Formats: sequence, structure tokens, C-alpha cells
Amino acid sequence: MARTSRTPRAHRLSLLSTALALLIAFVLLIVHQYFVGRQVLLDELSTEAAILAENSNAAVVFNDAAAAREIISAIRLTPRIQSAALYRQDSSLLASWPEDHPAFPPTLETHLDADRFGASAVPNETTLGFRRGVMREAVQVDGSTVGTLILNVDFSSLYWRLLEYAGGVLGIASVALSLAYRLTRRLRKQVASAERRMERLALYDHVTGLPNRRLFEQELRKVVDRVGSGGTLAALLFLDVDDFKKVNDAFGHEVGDRVLSMIGQRLKHTVRVGDVVARIGGDEFAVVLLDVGGPDNAAIVARSLIEVIGRPFSTEPTPSHIGLSVGIAMMPGDGGDPAALLRHADMAMYVAKAQGKNRFQFFSESIDGKVRQELRLESELRQALAKEDGGLWVAYQPKLCARTRQVVGVEALARWCLPDGRPVSPADFIPVAERTGLITALGDRLLERICRDLAGLRCAGFELASVAVNVSSLQLLQGPALVERFCSMLAAHGESVSQFEFELTESALTDARGASVLEAFRLAGFKLSIDDFGTGYSSLGYLKRFDVTTLKVDQCFVRALPDDAEDAAIVIAVIQMAHALGISVVAEGVETEAQADFLLRHECDVLQGYLLGMPMPASELADYLGQRNRVAGGVRAVQPG
Ligand code: C2E
Ligand code: CA
Ligand code: CA
Repeated sequence: MARTSRTPRAHRLSLLSTALALLIAFVLLIVHQYFVGRQVLLDELSTEAAILAENSNAAVVFNDAAAAREIISAIRLTPRIQSAALYRQDSSLLASWPEDHPAFPPTLETHLDADRFGASAVPNETTLGFRRGVMREAVQVDGSTVGTLILNVDFSSLYWRLLEYAGGVLGIASVALSLAYRLTRRLRKQVASAERRMERLALYDHVTGLPNRRLFEQELRKVVDRVGSGGTLAALLFLDVDDFKKVNDAFGHEVGDRVLSMIGQRLKHTVRVGDVVARIGGDEFAVVLLDVGGPDNAAIVARSLIEVIGRPFSTEPTPSHIGLSVGIAMMPGDGGDPAALLRHADMAMYVAKAQGKNRFQFFSESIDGKVRQELRLESELRQALAKEDGGLWVAYQPKLCARTRQVVGVEALARWCLPDGRPVSPADFIPVAERTGLITALGDRLLERICRDLAGLRCAGFELASVAVNVSSLQLLQGPALVERFCSMLAAHGESVSQFEFELTESALTDARGASVLEAFRLAGFKLSIDDFGTGYSSLGYLKRFDVTTLKVDQCFVRALPDDAEDAAIVIAVIQMAHALGISVVAEGVETEAQADFLLRHECDVLQGYLLGMPMPASELADYLGQRNRVAGGVRAVQPG
């Protein structure tokens, strides 16, 4: 995995700026020290010159050359004064030290630059150069000048001192720096590890330790570039854990996190070492298979991934079973950039999920079309729900007593027409509403509409004994709040709870999450009906536990009646079993008199199907009920059979 070079570069930069700051401070210190040292030196020299001039005035006055030399010879103790001379008032040389030094001309006449006075020339005033200088000091007696003292001074001691000073400063600085470096080593280590931690947080998922979406997208971009430059094939697998919410709900988030981490490990161990595995969302993972060869190999890996995730996860007290839905996009064929590839693999995953989960699906143009169509449907459904009249309405299909053929109730079925008048089948929009969570709003909207239709029918003189409303298993995820909302909606419209029956599929009974809601439905006084009975896996225990009132035998068992012996046996068995439990039976999809006759003979209680009445709008239902009642003898109120 590529790491950013941000940390070392920042480190180098901060070192460089520290060094520069130290260098500037050092240079300023030395310059300052030079000026201070030179000033001190000059002060000392002028004091020495003044003392020498003072001491030698008698020798000058008495023209005593030997005494004069004796006095100025004191400069030998001062290395910074190299030679000295005393001149008489008439500018002639009285004495010099060292004797006969060539720097001193016999008379003080010449005007020359101090640095060049070595060629027997003396400037006519004190002149100080960079390395050397000439000092002139008047020799006075009682305020009047009697001679001149000339000193040749040398500043090299200043530079030596400066050099010593610089060495000292450098020495102290390096000792201090190395001490500071040692002392801050721990701190620097902590900073470095904090930086590494932050980098991990930014690029890796803390639950699984796998790369996160950000890093994954960076890696995917590299793969896309590599594949784009030719030669190899790669595959992007979009993985979504099926029903992971079940684990979280049953065992809590801590265990959920542990399972996620185990999932990450299993995925990693199933693919090759160089392949990329990342967690890109709550229960979403992604895998890039490098140099995969072809779609067949991608399919083999997808199958292995589904297989390893299908093995039980050790959770207490019972192990967890989950599934995996995989969408596959091939590179370079299915997209030229990471975003498109992820979108396409996601679409394929979506289709795998819709086809029943725990399977894989390759992306294709037709999937693209299908998913786009669903997305369009979703947005149209959203718009429909946002409007008061968004084309949503309810059709009612009569349910008749098998014996008397009297209407015992109706099933309410959702209907939707697009703004251009085209109807959309509930078989198309209910799954979309379920997948997008719009089913909650849709269910509420339909129940509201049913209440209004019932009020309309009541005005027309028809009181329905029973209205069956379909409730999706996904609506049950809202918990008992769903039942409370239904109750208050019915109360607001003055409808009685006992008139309503909710049709649920068998999966609602077996799903632990639905149990509390079913209990709440039962306690509130609603009747429960099991829809499409025979296609799921409900047990008799559940039927008793939730006090189910009705079983609806699925159309697929009715269709081939009475000729198909197997279907006939199933239908008879269901009827007998239901009756033994005190549950009534409705047969769906009754289209022929032969089917109706068979069902009546085997004591099916209620019939529903095109033979007896199509699903119809409330206004047509009023006409239908009116006709039936005329046939039945003019009774307008519809009573149960
Ligand atoms: P379902 O609950 O099994 O509804 C029965 C379906 O069978 C309805 O299809 C109905 O029109 C159709 N049907 C009735 N009699 C016959 C017949 O004699 N022959 C044949 N071939 N079909 C018959 P529909 O209205 O298209 O509804 C399809 C499914 O959509 C329903 O199946 C139900 O699962 C779902 N659905 C409908 N309305 C709602 C609703 O309000 N909420 C929820 N959650 N689901 C709904
Ligand atoms: Ca139904
Ligand atoms: Ca049904």
C-alpha cells in the first residue's frame, strides 16, 4: 500500500528551518561580538597610549633617548602593540622600540595609508585599519604638547579571540542540541506514532484493519491506470453482507464489529496476497482481483468468497449465519474510471440481492438498463408520495363464501398510475418501495386511502365486514410503532380495528424481528392472515403462537386444480390442517368453476379470484356489491358468510 511522503518531508523542512535560524543567530552573535571586542580593544589601547605618553613626557622634555626607549619598551608586555616610537616637538625621532624599527621614519612628515605604513610612513592622525592601525598620542606637559607617541597596533588577537568565541559557541550549541535531541527523542517518537495513527485512521478502517473507501479508491485508480495501459485484466467485486443487521440486532454492535472483522479476515485469506480487500461501508466490502485472466476466474473467486462467508461465525450463545451478495465489474470492459466501475459493480450487486441474495452477478448493459429503470421508478414513486394525488389508489377484490357465494370481505390492492396514465404493476413498484424504505410511507398512504374509501362506501350504504390489507415484512421492521400508527389512523377515521385483517407472508412469522409487531397486531385486536401460504417455511407452531385467523392458499397451487394430483393433495392437506387448528382458508386466484367446485368440495371457506370478481376501484365495488345484494335479496349491508 502506498504511504504518503508527507511526514518525512515535513520533518526535513522543520530541521532545515531550525538550522537556518541557528545559523542566522550565530552570525549575528559573532558580528556583535566583533564590534564589542574591537571597542574594548580600542579603549584599552587608548588607555595604554595615554599612560605611555604621560610616563614619557619627562624623557621627551629632557631629550633623554635612553629613558624614552626604556619607557616605551614596556609595550613588549602587550602583544597587541607591536612597536612604538617617541618623536620630539620638532617631529624628529627621539626613540623607538624595537630599536631602529623600519616603520618609524626619522621625521613625522609622511601622509600614508595605515595599512601601508610599514614602508616607513606614519599617518598624521590615529588611523585604524582592519588588521592593524597607527595610534598617535600627544605627549604633554602642563597642557602644551612636547612630543608625539606613535604606536603600531595589531588586531589579530581580536580575531583569535573571536575564533575562540565562535568555537565555544558552536561547541556549546552542539552539546545543547545533542542533549535536546536526546531529551526529545521520546517526544518525537510519540509524535511520529501519533502521525502514523492519524494516517491509519484516515486510510484504514478501525474495525477490520482493512483499507477504507478512500484508500480503496486510490488503489482502484492505480489498477485502472495499469489495466488501461494494456496487457492485463482485473475484476472489481462489490460485496454486500446479506442481513448483517440481524447479527447487530441479535448480539449487539460489539459482537457485530467482531463478526465484521472476521469477515474481513476470511475475505483476505480467500484472495491472493497482492489483491486488494477493503471495507467501503457499514456492511459493504470491495475486492480488486489483479491479473485475473478472465471472467471465469472472477466467478470462481466470487463463489469462494460466498462460500467462506456462508460458514457460521462463532457468536455466543448461537453461531451467526450470514450471506454475501456480490456484483462484479470487469476491467477494462465495464468502466474507465473508479467511480463508474464502483457504480456498475454496485448495480450488479443490487441485482444479485434482488434475485434472492447470497449469489454473484456480473455487470452488463441490461443490468444498467434495469437498475436505471428502478431508479427512475423510485424517483417517480417519491414524487407520487409527495403529492396529495400522485396517482396512487386502491383496488378492492371481493372474497366470497365458497358455499353461499356471498361477499365476506375484500382484499385491498395497491394501484399506481404514472402522470401519463400508464399503470405500474405492484409486482414492480412494491419491491422498489421495499428496497428504498418507501414502503413505510406507501403503506400509511394506502391505509389512509382505504379509510376514505370505506367512508365513501358507507355513505353509499355498504358496510364491509372485513378488509384485508397487505403488509410487507419490511414494514414490520418499524416495530410496534407501526401498529400504534395504524390504530391511531383508524381511530381518526372512525374505523373499527376488528374490521381489518392484515395479510403477511410466512417470512414475517419466522423473522425474529417481526415477532413483537405481530404480537402488537394481535393485542390491538387485528386479524392476521398468512398470504401465499405454502410458498414459505412457516411451522404450525407459529400459526398458533400468533393466533393466525386465516391462511391464503397461494395461486400456484390453485392454478392446476382439480387435475394436478399433487397440488390437489397439498390444498386438501392445508385445508385440513388449518381447520384442525381452527383457522379458516381462503383460496386465491380462482379462475374457473371447476376450481371453485373442487375447493368447495374440500371445504375451503372463502374464494377469491377473477371468476368471482376482479380487483376494482371503490366506485365499481359499490356497483358490484349492489348487484350481488339484489341477487341475494336486496340486503344492502354486506355480512360475513
Ligand atoms: P397478493 O397479495 O398475493 O395479491 C394477489 C394478487 O393476485 C394480486 O395481484 C391480484 O390482482 C392477483 N389476482 C387476484 N385474482 C387473480 C386471479 O384469478 N388470477 C390471477 N392470475 N391473479 C389474480 P396484484 O394486485 O398485481 O398484486 C401483486 C402483489 O403485490 C400482491 O400479491 C402483494 O404481494 C403485493 N401488493 C399489492 N398491494 C399491496 C399493498 O397494498 N401493500 C403491499 N405491501 N403489497 C401489496
Ligand atoms: Ca395478499
Ligand atoms: Ca397472495
